[in-house]
Amino acid sequence: MAAAAYELLVLGGGSGGLAGARRAAEMGARVALVEPRRLGGTCVNVGCVPKKVMWNTAVHAEFIHDHPDYGFEIPGVRFNWRTIKEKRDAYVRRLNEIYENNVAKAHIDIIRGYGKFTADPEPTIEVDGQKYTAPHILIATGGRPVVPPDCEVPGASLGITSDGFFDLEELPRHSVVVGAGYIAVEIVGILSTLGSKSSLLIRRDKVLRTFDSLISTNCTQELENMGVDVWKHTQVQAVTKSPSGLLEVTVTSSEPGHKPTVKVIRDVDCLLWAIGRKPNTEELCLDRVGVKVDPHNHVVVDEFQNTTRKGIYAIGDVCGKALLTPVAIAAGRKLALRLFGNQQHARLDYSNIPTVVFSHPPIGTVGLTEDEAISVYGKDNVKIYSTLFTPMYHAVTQRKVKCVMKLVCTGKEEKVVGLHMQGLGCDEMLQGFAVAIKMGATKADFDNTVAIHPTSAEELVTMR
Ligand SMILES: Cc1cc2nc3c(=O)[nH]c(=O)nc-3n(C[C@H](O)[C@H](O)[C@H](O)COP(=O)(O)OP(=O)(O)OC[C@H]3O[C@@H](n4cnc5c(N)ncnc54)[C@H](O)[C@@H]3O)c2cc1C
Repeated sequence: MAAAAYELLVLGGGSGGLAGARRAAEMGARVALVEPRRLGGTCVNVGCVPKKVMWNTAVHAEFIHDHPDYGFEIPGVRFNWRTIKEKRDAYVRRLNEIYENNVAKAHIDIIRGYGKFTADPEPTIEVDGQKYTAPHILIATGGRPVVPPDCEVPGASLGITSDGFFDLEELPRHSVVVGAGYIAVEIVGILSTLGSKSSLLIRRDKVLRTFDSLISTNCTQELENMGVDVWKHTQVQAVTKSPSGLLEVTVTSSEPGHKPTVKVIRDVDCLLWAIGRKPNTEELCLDRVGVKVDPHNHVVVDEFQNTTRKGIYAIGDVCGKALLTPVAIAAGRKLALRLFGNQQHARLDYSNIPTVVFSHPPIGTVGLTEDEAISVYGKDNVKIYSTLFTPMYHAVTQRKVKCVMKLVCTGKEEKVVGLHMQGLGCDEMLQGFAVAIKMGATKADFDNTVAIHPTSAEELVTMR
């Protein structure tokens, strides 16, 4: 069968693939995009976008709870999960259409199906028996959530993942979320705030263990404060379905220094695994073209997103580094500039990437944690500023949620190399501070900036 020729072939129509394809097409490259599913990838369909809609929904529930404290009596408030699900799904469908239109306007060909490399001498992609070639091939196939195999945890497949969360037709009455990463924290927060009796099962004693200790400690505490039953040092042993159709989750809890105890969590109508994601690489036949993967099957790339095979590149979640939409987009655009825009040195700088966790309250973090800064600069060269306060919003509410903030500074000039915070508004507060930190701001620069009063953000420029 004749091979169709392009200048760039992109595998995956998610955040990274779409961004790279569009930027390359803007610069005149002839581009084809291979995608088996709806355009937009994880972020648009089962990630950031529908998640943020659900987080906004949960924030409404919190404010409604506070309404009487602000003088509003609103009797008979009822929540209808289906209403927001329908609106959310419609919004996602609109975004899918917008992506389709943008791709068409950019004259990018869409090839529907799963792509994989062939054994031809020149790198070639096969989709449903049809072969395609290009001097440049971009792997942007993302990843998918992990479920333990039934042979390891019998009955594990009775649970769902973050993908299945967006298919739920009703708010579960009793949810069990397994995992300590940001997806677990965000989903259990949404479920609990909206009224599902929620448990979170974690293997150690804290969530978000790769974050600064202030954040992991505070977030674990806040989950407990909001009513999530956090089961520490706990692992799932088995899952069964009772005759009523509800799940029974058998767990082992083993506090250090104590004998492991086996318990059963009964009457669970939603068990959700959020224990990590794995890259979509196994099906690509990368060994046929000499593209190396690491022990976790992530594609190995250099700082310019080159794989180990000339002319084949990879970006986004499939590389396993900073799994965030704006990272995949930025890497895709930089690569397109390098390949087709005469910018030979274009590459994404992976330092100081700001991140928000949409927990309750939200977390904002950028730069080094305190421990990382100490290991890089030495304990004597690291100075920490931190604060804990109750935001003014809660001055009149019975519900009190504190805000914590930490600045990690180094050297005589006290360069700010890390900022970590959790509290009301921290999600929207972070972006501007991330600009300052990326520019190399010092503590003195923070102090010389006049505070905005009364806000929580002003605490960041008045810390002593
Ligand atoms: C629940 C959840 C919440 C999240 N929230 C946030 C957030 O708030 N902020 C944030 O920045 N990030 C968030 N993320 C992460 C974000 O969604 C990802 O980092 C981002 O989507 C990665 O983009 P990507 O292009 O690398 O991969 P993806 O967006 O996953 O796109 C990969 C595409 O490749 C396609 N594909 C797979 N195999 C093949 C094949 N063989 N051939 C062709 N195509 C293939 C897939 O169908 C998919 O469309 C969240 C993720 C999840 C799961």
